[in-house]
Amino acid sequence: MEQNKLSVLVIEDDPEDYILLRTYLSHATRTQFELCHVTSYAEALNTLVEGQFDAVLADYFLEGHTATDLFKHAKLIGLDTPIIVLTGLQAPELDDVLMQLGASDFIPKDELTSALLERSIRHAIERKRSEQKISQLIKRDPLTGLGNRLIFEEHAELALERAKRNQSHVAIAFLDLDRFKNVNDTLGHHVGDLLLTLVGQRISRGIRASDFVARIGGDEFTILLDNIHDLVSLERLCSKILAEVSRPATLDYKQLVVSASMGIAVFPNQGETVSELMRKADMALYECKKNAIDARFLVFSDDLQARLHKETRVENGLQQALDNNEFELHYQPIVNLDDYRIVGVEALIRWRLPDGSLLMPDEFISEASRVGLITPLGEWVVRHAAQQLQDWRAQGFELTMSVNISPRHLLHVSFDELIGNVLQDYHLPPGSLMLELTEEVFVDSGLSSLYALSEARRAGVKVAIDDFGTGYSSMRYLKTLPIDRIKIDRCFVSGGGAEQISDPMITQAIVFLAHGLGFDLVAEGIETEAQALALHQQGCQKGQGYWFAKGLPAKQLTELLVAGKPLA
Ligand code: C2E
Ligand code: CA
Ligand code: CA
Repeated sequence: MEQNKLSVLVIEDDPEDYILLRTYLSHATRTQFELCHVTSYAEALNTLVEGQFDAVLADYFLEGHTATDLFKHAKLIGLDTPIIVLTGLQAPELDDVLMQLGASDFIPKDELTSALLERSIRHAIERKRSEQKISQLIKRDPLTGLGNRLIFEEHAELALERAKRNQSHVAIAFLDLDRFKNVNDTLGHHVGDLLLTLVGQRISRGIRASDFVARIGGDEFTILLDNIHDLVSLERLCSKILAEVSRPATLDYKQLVVSASMGIAVFPNQGETVSELMRKADMALYECKKNAIDARFLVFSDDLQARLHKETRVENGLQQALDNNEFELHYQPIVNLDDYRIVGVEALIRWRLPDGSLLMPDEFISEASRVGLITPLGEWVVRHAAQQLQDWRAQGFELTMSVNISPRHLLHVSFDELIGNVLQDYHLPPGSLMLELTEEVFVDSGLSSLYALSEARRAGVKVAIDDFGTGYSSMRYLKTLPIDRIKIDRCFVSGGGAEQISDPMITQAIVFLAHGLGFDLVAEGIETEAQALALHQQGCQKGQGYWFAKGLPAKQLTELLVAGKPLA
């Protein structure tokens, strides 16, 4: 220990004991002690708050208190000066208790010697210092040398306090590298580590002296941007950081393209607490990433809040919606391309929110699948559509009803049972109900899906491949699949937005294929007469699309059926 003059606070109410201590300490051989003497804990606490001491010597008993109280107070005020307790009695059991409370040492007064006391104080100080160093270390990210989450939060707390007092603005930003996993996977963790270190340095260069950066995990960095005056200067700052980070880099002789995205939340506009701001910055980052455009930043806003709110409402509301019967089916006609008469309908689900607005399936089907509600929802669709089909059949309309089945639902253990029951319950003749499944089911999901489909077909339903041409079905494989119909995806029909078919070569090829293999064929997304005519000429028998009709509520579709006219 290079420092040979140590200041020690002595808490001792017995004047004789104090004199004894002072004498011992003055005889110390290697250290010069500067003493400050107080006689009560209350006085001691005041002195501790005000002064800086290297160590504290405290008598165990002091005017109705014990050193235990001292430790509790020391903890409260965040004191980390080492405290050595002296006691007039031999009480070995106290030793453990005091050590647990954080005492650096515990010495019976009758064992005191000058050397013992000096050594005890010096060791206590030494230990405390290395403890502090360790806790400093664990507040650092060992790889980049930046702060870690813990210290970031500490800094952020202080910055918010300051901002509250000065009525100023503070921003918290999350920065995440784009496609960092690729770097790790293709160039190895060694290069990944180098990149993270480099990015840490670049961020540090991009920020102002008053800002603070930490790495809180993987390729995620957080930045505290203090004293933000307005949105424009915040955005300028973020652009600068991103520009600094997103420069090419040469690491380990390899050229790397580096880019990152950022999500930002501002105090006090978007949150009052550090954790709320961090959550929102993270959400903004997630939004940025979702759009898959590199090197972008997004400041959390009320708009984003509203959108996310809607998403959670979707999630929470799904189960309730099922219970409250908020779903409805619309039916889009499938027509014969010879005469434009309705030969079938496709059931398309909608969610009528209590406020009257209508959510489209793209806004909630994948969510329902994620939260495990696709099976009850799918069952609702199948039963509802079957009921409607039964009604129409009773009125004399010979139709095929198509329903969309999610791959998840198909894998449910009692899927084929459901289909069998439905056909029976609604007295539907074989082939009047058709299940539509996207190509991925036939490509990725393996044998259990195919088995479930074969079983359903045996029970008496037909099966269609939906959105055909967008996945990767192998042509060779196609003829062995348990299917009856192919639906040409609308991107080949009206995807280009032009009058004519967008991809006539592909539609023609699919027509040949379907004929060759003996499948029924429907072209989706017919939006113009030219497309309808051309598809008919290519040999496609059936079509569906806005040119004929959109998905309509049952009542309106019934009117069309009753009118019995061609749809165009
Ligand atoms: P899909 O099976 O391909 O259904 C056709 C979608 O294309 C429908 O959108 C329909 O309104 C739309 N559409 C029809 N004709 C045209 C056209 O001429 N031009 C354009 N641009 N679009 C047209 P919708 O109703 O929003 O359904 C979207 C997707 O949601 C459906 O795609 C289907 O995959 C899924 N879906 C719908 N209902 C259900 C359901 O009950 N269960 C499950 N699992 N999925 C469903
Ligand atoms: Ca469909
Ligand atoms: Ca489709």
